[in-house]
Parts: sequence; structure tokens; C-alpha cells
Amino acid sequence: MDISVLSIFPKMFDALNESVIGKAQEKGLLNLQVVDFRDFTTDKQNHVDDAPYGGGAGMLLQAQPIYDAMSYLDNENPGKKRVILLDPAGKTFDAKMAQSFAKEDHLVFICGHYEGFDERIKDLVTDEVSIGDYVLTGGELPTMSMIDATMRFVPGVLGNNVSADEDSFSHGLLEYPQYTRPADFRGKKVPEVLTSGNHEKIRVWRLKQALKKTLERRPDLLKTIELNDEEKKLLREIHSEM
Ligand code: SAM
Repeated sequence: MDISVLSIFPKMFDALNESVIGKAQEKGLLNLQVVDFRDFTTDKQNHVDDAPYGGGAGMLLQAQPIYDAMSYLDNENPGKKRVILLDPAGKTFDAKMAQSFAKEDHLVFICGHYEGFDERIKDLVTDEVSIGDYVLTGGELPTMSMIDATMRFVPGVLGNNVSADEDSFSHGLLEYPQYTRPADFRGKKVPEVLTSGNHEKIRVWRLKQALKKTLERRPDLLKTIELNDEEKKLLREIHSEM
């Protein structure tokens, strides 16, 4: 997958050379290109921002460097692109969106900064996306979170035995509790079923725990998914035990 990022702080993306995403780049599963759109400004002082028309605090990113950086990307790689603008007013990013991004050939992220950007850059974008209801100083950290979450759904990135589909949110439920060795840690024992070797019992226990955790912590999620008969039965059991 090709991912291009337009940012005036390209060094921040060095963090993506580490760990799983770094490995994905080494394996050729991710071709990451970070473009400093300051390189495209026609301003003599190299500025990419200016004061807002109508007054107000702070500066806005100007349209020109971003338009010219996009033209550069289009000339270099003319294929279809999904262009994502980082914006607190955008649609909130979630696992479904990450799954849909993971199916694209080429994603472009445009990172805002200062007080935001000239509204006219929105003509370049296909998606306006927020990472949550809070404001960060720039779009770089949200972009890195989205790249990380997206790449987990690209086949081969997590290795053969691991699947992002089993993580929290992928099926609308939070993940069940997990344990590793030792089976008894300072008197705290692993639930017996997990050491029973009975795969069916383990599957049902995990499903019930996932339902219970979701009911306790994020009941809103349960309203967004269609439960099958087994899940409905387990949920009734959980209610009666509570
Ligand atoms: N004045 C803007 C507003 O009230 O919406 C906030 C600008 S913010 C300080 C600068 C840039 O950081 C934004 O243009 C955006 O690219 C990025 N940003 C900040 N918070 C974000 C969030 N929650 N989700 C996505 N991007 C965010």
C-alpha cells in the first residue's frame, strides 16, 4: 500500500520506522512517503501560513503549498487516491474506517497545524476525519494513529497467526480478558477453563466475557451490532447473573 503524508513536521514520522509498522515498510507492505509541503511554498520567506480573513486569533495554513504538493504527488503517482484531511470537525475514526482504508491502494493524509487551514483545500479531499473530541496541536499524531490502525488490517502486517479481526471493536465487541504464564501469579489464578484444553468451552467463555465487558463498559456498542442466537442467550445469562 502507498501512503503519502503532507506535513510541515516530517521528522515526526520517523516513529513509524519502528516496531510493526517499521517491519511492514521493510517487507514492502507499506511504501510511506512524507512530503514537507513547506518545500512547495512560493512565499519568499518560506511561510505556509497567514492570518485569517475577518480577524481572529492564530494563523491558518494557506491553500497554495498544499495544492502544489498534491499536484507533485499526482504527477509522481497518477493513480486513484483517497485523500484524508485531519480535522477535529471530521467524522470520528474507528475500526470500520481503518478496515476500509486498508483496502485502498493509495492513501494521502493532509496534516493541519496552527489554527487549521484555508477552507479551500477541502476541494482536494475525499474524507475529513477526526481522531476524537479533543484538539491536538497538529494532524501528525492523529495521522500516525490512523496509519497504525489501518496497517493492522493489511494482510501480512501482523504475521500469520495474528488477526486484527479478533481485536476489540472489529466485530463490535470489546476483547475478552487474556492471561499468559504463570497460571498462578502470586495467588491470582488464571480462570480454569483456559487451561482445560477444551477449545469449545474456551470459545464460549471468551465470547461471554467479551459480551460482559462490552455491556459493562460500552453498552452503546451492543446497540450497533446484530447479535446471533448464541450471543443473545449468553447476554440473558449475564443479565441474570448481575
Ligand atoms: N481551530 C481548529 C478547530 O477548532 O477545529 C483546531 C486546529 S488544531 C490546533 C490544528 C490541526 O491539528 C487541525 O487542523 C488538524 O489537522 C489537527 N487536529 C487537531 N485535533 C485533531 C483531532 N482531534 N482529529 C484530527 N485532527 C486534529
